[in-house]
This record gives sequence, structure tokens and C-alpha cells, in this order.
Amino acid sequence: MALLQISEPGQASAPHQHKLAIGIDLGTTNSLVASVMSGQSTILTDENNQSILPSVVHCGKDNKLTVGCDACPYAKTDPTNTIVSVKRFMGLGFKEVSNFKNCPYQLVENGNNVLFHTAMGDLSAVEISSTILSSLKERAEKSLGGDLVGAVITVPAYFNDAQRQATKDAATLAGLNTLRLLNEPTAAAVAYGLESGEEGVHAIYDLGGGTFDISILSFSKGVFKVLATGGDSTLGGDDFDQLIIDDCVEKMGVSELTPTQMQKIKQFARVAKETLSTQDFAEFDCIETPYKITREKFDKLSSKLIKRTLLLVKRALRDAQVEMSAVKDVIMVGGSTRMPQVRSMVTDLFNKPVLCSINPDEVVAKGAAIQANILAGNKSADEMLLLDVLPLSLGLETMGGLVEKVVHRNTTIPITRAQEFTTFKDGQSAMSIHVLQGERELVKDCRSLGRFDLTGIPPMVAGNARIRVEFQVDADGLLSVSASEQVSGVKAQVVIKPSYGLSDGQMEQMLKDSILFAKSDIEARQLHETQVDANRTLEAIDSALAKDKDMIDQQMFDDIMQARSELEAVVSHTEEKVIQNKIDHLEKTCAGFVEMRMNASVMKAMQGHNVDEF
Ligand code: AMP
Repeated sequence: MALLQISEPGQASAPHQHKLAIGIDLGTTNSLVASVMSGQSTILTDENNQSILPSVVHCGKDNKLTVGCDACPYAKTDPTNTIVSVKRFMGLGFKEVSNFKNCPYQLVENGNNVLFHTAMGDLSAVEISSTILSSLKERAEKSLGGDLVGAVITVPAYFNDAQRQATKDAATLAGLNTLRLLNEPTAAAVAYGLESGEEGVHAIYDLGGGTFDISILSFSKGVFKVLATGGDSTLGGDDFDQLIIDDCVEKMGVSELTPTQMQKIKQFARVAKETLSTQDFAEFDCIETPYKITREKFDKLSSKLIKRTLLLVKRALRDAQVEMSAVKDVIMVGGSTRMPQVRSMVTDLFNKPVLCSINPDEVVAKGAAIQANILAGNKSADEMLLLDVLPLSLGLETMGGLVEKVVHRNTTIPITRAQEFTTFKDGQSAMSIHVLQGERELVKDCRSLGRFDLTGIPPMVAGNARIRVEFQVDADGLLSVSASEQVSGVKAQVVIKPSYGLSDGQMEQMLKDSILFAKSDIEARQLHETQVDANRTLEAIDSALAKDKDMIDQQMFDDIMQARSELEAVVSHTEEKVIQNKIDHLEKTCAGFVEMRMNASVMKAMQGHNVDEF
């Protein structure tokens, strides 16, 4: 009889047993899967030797689901049932997606969620995405010949809580165990093996088909940390195609094009642009007239777009508080970085050659596979730890509709941070905790992530309770908030899984607004703080009068009441100074009363004691 082996918890498999783990780049247009095989991160291909899986899903009649290349032709013949770029919908609510332009789908509102009305029924973005992940999982299992222990899935650095959670949900639905969500730029840095090099700061320049992302990473003591991220969700290869289209239309002198002509020119322009990456000129027939463009002309046209990306690079470096000269490596990611002028202008900016030896379409999936291999236990986890940053600040609502930031934007995650708050009213037994995301000062300008109540606070004088609110953001960027009253120990907690999120564009807008409105926000904050102060003063006076009115004569009482009603009348005034003057006046009027109360309480404390004891 064989003896049963008993192993240490978590050490069940033999050390030499290689566990199958994959890295997935779940892209807007295309998705890829990779795995570490014989020590090399390798892109896994399908039965036709194709590495790229177009992120296209056709939901046809009779429950016929088609994913990838086979689904692409349906985008033209059956657009309402063919979902392309589902990533743009992940974690977003109905209102947000209804602003999307050129969206051929029939969208159905389902609470905070949005569903695609298809021939296969109403499906969510998570469900559609899970079919892409299922297809990649199947491909990997076939290639690797076994069951997978899990996957590392990459997400844009800008993805918020809801978008990350939606990605995880899609993986679960596809039967995949998510080992980790990893930011795309971080994956690229791992693919280049920067962790085996010296310590330093690296920039990841990612120019795809429709978006531009820049990330500044630092590598120190074996740890990757994303110092800052930035970008433009409306700038990408399509804009470079448009330069050729505009030039062509201008040269041809055509005022209007039919949709079919436009479609054709778009395709030609894209091919011409890609040709110019390796040749000196490109030409095509535009409405039966030959059109030619030289590399020199194209470079001239495109330099404005590239300069826009360089400005964003500089801004990200400022955010990261890093000098340009301190950047050791610049990694190129995304198909558009194949344009020689992009490479040369970025090289000139940093004054050093850029890293572009790995296929810019495959670099993210390859890095994810390396990380998956480590997390699956095939290598020591100590070898590499990846940290990311929060894209937007997280905070709480305080009195007067103000936001108190608890974890600031660009803070490295995972992180735990706590702050103490107190009660506003005497005997206050509950506190509503409102969690917010954003850079602005007022609640109305930030995004609400969730609310919960802390109840059962024992009755105390206002300001005596000590409520500790703790924010915990895990390595995947998911947030949980807990609150506890330190004296009594009562606790409440919430895990924030917002049912809808923000698009990259909205996130950028929130950041831009925070800069644009900085001055007016500070003024608004001061006004709100003074209003809170006024209410607190009124509360304190009422409480004092209710207890000790007998201490003062009628004249003093009348004066206090007069000053009190003057303050009450201006509490909602829009000029901070007006309120402050009335607060000062009330405090001055009450000075005698305050002194009497203090004396009385000292006398009470001293009763039964002699002076020496104090
Ligand atoms: P991605 O979103 O990373 O797959 O990038 C797609 C974009 O890369 C599209 O705009 C392509 O036209 C562009 N692209 C791919 N190959 C090249 C090339 N050789 N030269 C210029 N642009 C390219």
C-alpha cells in the first residue's frame, strides 16, 4: 500500500512540477495570450498559426457565437450583433456609454449596468469579454496540453475599480483563475527584463491605434513601482491615417465623399502609413486618381501629433518628479511606435535610443506571461514584486460637502492608510461614511464610490469620539474601507465594487478640471469650511445655553441671542468674510459666558480636593 504524502500547507505540489500559467493582453482591438515555455515567454498561436485574436464577438441567431477573425466579417454584414471594442464598455454605466459615438448597438439599461441587445439575448460587456477570454484559454490549454492554474490579465494603467472588477468578473466567467491584474506598461517593462538590470527609472511610451499612454516606472531593490501615468485616450494611429486622408482629399480637390469611398480611402491611408515606416514613399488610387505621399511630407504632417505626445510625456515626468535625464530606458509599445519618426522624436526628447526590439504588439502579453509564471510558483516570488499607482485620489465626505483626501493620486498600491475623524454633534450615535474618488475639493465635483453607516457610537460630547477610517487598496487596485470608533470599538466595513466606472476620457477630464478649477475650488473649500464652523458655533452655543442659561443675566442673554441670530442669518452667505465676521462677533459676545462656564467647571473639578493636589 502506498503511503500518503502529507505536505506543508501551500506546498502541495512537487517543487519541480511546472504549473501552467498564462499572460493575457485583453486589448480593445486585439487580444493575445502568452506563456513561459522552456524559460522563454512565447506567444501562443491558434490552429492557423495566428497570434492575434481580434477582440470581436458575433452573437448570431440560434445561439451561434463566433469570436476573433471569423467574427470580423459580421461587423459589416450584421453590425448590431457584432461587438467590437467591448473593452471600452467594461465597467461603465448606461449613461456613460450612451455618449459613445458611432455605436451601432442596441443598448439596454439594466439598473446601473448596460446590456447589448443581440440575437443571443441581452448580454453584458463582462459576458462578451468572457467569450474572448474563453477562446484564449482554450487556445492555451490546447497549446500547453493541460489545465491552467491561472492567468495574469493586463489592464490599462488608467482603469478604475469598476473596470478592473469587470475584467476579473469576465475571467471568472470564462473559468479562469485571475492570478493578478497587471498594468499594461508594467507588463512591458517586465518583458524587457528590466528587473534583471540596474536600479533606475523607466518610461513606457504606448501609442496604439486609438490611444496614447505614458507611464513612468521606477525599479529599486527588486521592486517595480509605477510613479506616474498619463496619456490621451483620443490620440493614436487613426489620427495619423487621418493626416493622409486630409492630404489626399485636399490634393484631389474633392468636396464630398460617399461613405463607401471614405471607407476605401481610410483603408488605403492606413496601408500607406504603414508602408512609409519602411519605404520612402507610398501611393494608391484615390477615386481613380493616383495619389502619392513621400516619407518627408508624412513626417512633416505628423510631427504635430507626435509633439502632443511629447508634452504628455513631460507632464508625466513632472507628476513623477523625475528629471528627463534620470530616465534610464524608454520602452516602445503599440503598433504606432513602428513609425520611424515617433522613434526618432522620442529618442531626441530623452537623448537616448529607445527599446523597440520586442514586437510592440506582443510585448504586453509576454510580460504578463512572465509574471504569471512567477505567481504560479514556478519561480521565487521574491524575484519580482510589481506595484502600481492609484490613478485618482480617494477620500471621504466631511461636513459641508467637502472632500477629505485619504489616499492621494499616484500613491503606490497596495496601500493601507487610515485617518481619524470625529463627531459633529453632542450624542451623535451614527456616522455616514461616503467614499469618493477625484481631485476636486467639493463632493459634487467628485465621483461617489459608495456609502455605509457606522452605527452604535456611544453618546459623547461633539468632537470626543475617535472614528478611524481605514482605506485598503489591494494589488489589483480594488478598494475596501472600514470604520471603527476607537473608544467603544464599534466597526463597519464596505468593499467598494462600484457597478459602473469612468472612461479614460472622463478620468482625464477630472484631472484637467482639478487644475483648471484649483483656485475657485480652494475658495469654495474655504467658504464651506467657514459655513461648517458657523454651524458648529451655533450648535455649541445652543448646547451651552440649554445647560447653563441660569449663569447669565437677561442683558447678556439678549446680547448672545442677538449675535446668534445675526450669525444664523448669514450661514448660507456666499462671501466667506461676511460669515467669519459674524462668527467673530458671536464669539466675542459669548466671551463672558464662556469664562463663567470654565470657572464653574474648574470649581466642580476641585470640589473635595485641595489646591496642592493640582
Ligand atoms: P495597436 O492598437 O497597438 O494594435 O496599434 C494599431 C496601430 O498601429 C494602427 O493604427 C496601425 O496602423 C499601427 N501600425 C501597425 N503597424 C504599423 C507600421 N508598420 N507603421 C505604422 N503604424 C503601424
